[in-house]
Amino acid sequence: MRFTHETLGQRVVFAPGGAPAAVAAEVAGLGATRVMLIAAPARASLADRIGADLPVAVRHDEVVMHVPVEVAERARRAATAGRVDALVCVGGGSTTGLAKAVALTTGLPIVAVPTTYAGSEATNVWGLTEGEVKTTGVDARVLPRSVVYDASLTLGLPVETSVASGLNALAHCVDSMWGPRADPIDRALAGEGIRALARGLPAVAADPTGLEGRERTLYGAHLAAVAFASAGSGMHHKICHVLGGMFGLPHAQTHAVVLPHVLAHNAPSAPEAERRIARAFGSPTAGEGLAALRKTLDAPRALRDHGMPEEGITRAVAPILAAVPGGNPAPVTEENLTALLRAAWEGSEPA
Ligand code: NAD
Repeated sequence: MRFTHETLGQRVVFAPGGAPAAVAAEVAGLGATRVMLIAAPARASLADRIGADLPVAVRHDEVVMHVPVEVAERARRAATAGRVDALVCVGGGSTTGLAKAVALTTGLPIVAVPTTYAGSEATNVWGLTEGEVKTTGVDARVLPRSVVYDASLTLGLPVETSVASGLNALAHCVDSMWGPRADPIDRALAGEGIRALARGLPAVAADPTGLEGRERTLYGAHLAAVAFASAGSGMHHKICHVLGGMFGLPHAQTHAVVLPHVLAHNAPSAPEAERRIARAFGSPTAGEGLAALRKTLDAPRALRDHGMPEEGITRAVAPILAAVPGGNPAPVTEENLTALLRAAWEGSEPA
């Protein structure tokens, strides 16, 4: 066994029901006295609760999915004008993404308070969108210094969004099995992530107001993101990034739809990963494990239901082919990728 694994330095606080005090402690630990509190208007009341114990100098609520560059620029100007010394973001991946965009150019430290299962808070990956093109990059400055997980903050997340978001986390786990830098530590984290998500998500669906399923799902989402940050984007993430940027598709739903198709494509060529995923699901095969979970959760099935135009299938093929890592387990060709995208677009069973 020969590999090099880099562990990202971050404080991770699980504080069920205790986010305000935990965030205040993290901000104090940074020595910050002028916080920019970032939260979308719909998360204003959560942000009020968390901000009550913080030295808030700026409240910023312009949050847009996939972080358009002009939105990032306005947030950066607000941070500079407010002479802030730390960023606290309360929200899903879009909100964390905006904080990261500010940190990227200002170097300001982030305390992230996630309210979905996207996992951006545990990665050093940033993303910005200009027109139809989404650009991502890796930079140590965007890794939040602290993350505070409080499952009670996700109670307002409707079951449908929770399911899509949790399957986005599951996609991090699956892609971490064969991402370009995947190593045995990533695979161990991803396996435990799958186990936690496969138990947590059905519990969320069955009892959306219960904390246990939410907490287990947050734990799985964290492991998923840590594994993914190390392993890097595999075929699945490359497909979703291209589609998301080109057609403005909802991030989590896109991942939820595409995942079974990529698993079916790669699994026969990645037997060890297949066995690990199957074991984590407690299922005879990886594909059956995912299919059973998706059935229980009534998971999103077709990209056409989420705004992708049919002519987009042909348009997306070339940019995806250019982006898929060379070491992907199964060969990716114009023909099999077109078939995969069509199946995901129309919602047919993975081939
Ligand atoms: P999001 O932040 O847009 O949230 C999805 C939806 O859930 C939104 O409508 C939001 O208003 C709602 N929501 C969030 N929290 C809620 C709550 N507690 N109660 C009710 N509704 C709530 O999307 P997301 O799926 O969390 O994240 C997607 C974005 O994150 C994408 O832009 C993606 O590229 C990025 N992302 C980045 C990384 C990374 O490592 N950089 C990892 C994962 C995702």
